[in-house]
Amino acid sequence: MRKQIFIVSQHGVEPEYLRCVKEAAEEFMSMFPQYKDDYPVKLLGEWRDSDYLVDIRGYSRLSPEEKAKCIPMTTGEYMRPYKSTDWAMAEAKRSAYYAGRPHQIDAMKLLDLMNEDPTVSSIPQININIVKDDAVVVDENGRPNNFVYGMGRGDSGLVLSLKRLKDRYGHNPEYLKEVIKTLTIHELGHVFSATRDGRHNVANRDGYGAHCDCPDCVMRTDSRADSKKLTDDRLRRKREGKPPLCPECISSAEVTFAYLRGNSQELDGAIKKFNYIKDRSETYS
Ligand SMILES: [Zn+2]
Ligand SMILES: [Zn+2]
Repeated sequence: MRKQIFIVSQHGVEPEYLRCVKEAAEEFMSMFPQYKDDYPVKLLGEWRDSDYLVDIRGYSRLSPEEKAKCIPMTTGEYMRPYKSTDWAMAEAKRSAYYAGRPHQIDAMKLLDLMNEDPTVSSIPQININIVKDDAVVVDENGRPNNFVYGMGRGDSGLVLSLKRLKDRYGHNPEYLKEVIKTLTIHELGHVFSATRDGRHNVANRDGYGAHCDCPDCVMRTDSRADSKKLTDDRLRRKREGKPPLCPECISSAEVTFAYLRGNSQELDGAIKKFNYIKDRSETYS
C-alpha cells in the first residue's frame, strides 16, 4: 500500500529543523529502493484547514460528536477537531496535564489523534510529529514515564521532541541537526519494525522497546548508545559509505514493507532473506 510520510509540527518549531527531518526521512527510505516510491515524504509543518475555526453560529450547526471535541478559544470561537496541528497539540497537552505533566505533550495521545483523523482512510499516512515541548509517554495505568526525545510506533508514526535536544546540543547548531536526523531515522526504524522479534541481537533491555545490539547500528538505545554516540556512529558509517541501519535491521524492515504492500511472493522472499541474515548473525552481549 502506498502511504504518504507527512512531517507536521507544533507551532514554534523552526523550519530549518523540519527540513533536516525531511532529509532524514528521505535518507531512511533510500535504504529501501524497492519501496521508496510508495512512501513519498511531504513537509506539511504547521497546517490548518481553512475551516478550522468556527464562530458560535457555526458551532451550533456541528454534530454532537464534533462539538464534544471542539476546543473553545478566548476569542469566543471554537477550534474544530482534526482540522489543524494546533488542535491535536492542544489535546495531547491536555492529556499530559491530566497525567500530572502540565506543559508536556502526551506522545501516544498525539499518535492516536493522528490515526483517528478522518482523512487517514482516504490518504493512508505515517505522521512524523515534531514538537518543541517536552514529550511524555503515559502508561496504561495513567502514569507518566520519563520524558522522551522521541517515540516511534509501528505502522503509525513518531513523535520527536526538540526541547532537551536543543538544551543539550544547541551550542552546536550543525551537530544538533545531525542528532535530529539520527533520531528521526531511529524512530522510523521503529515505525517499520526494524527490530522485529526472532533475532538473536535484539532485546528490550530498558523497557523502551526492542533495540538492536549491533555495534554501530542506529537502532541501538540509550543503555548501549546515547544520542551522541548514535549520531557519531551514523556519521562515521556515512563516511564509509554504509547506511545508518545494520543489514539485519534493514532486512527486518523490508519484511514490513513487503507485508504492507500485500504481495505474498515478495513477502516470502523478504522473510527468507531475513531468516538467512538472522541465522548468520552473532549475538553481541
Ligand atoms: Zn528506540
Ligand atoms: Zn541493527
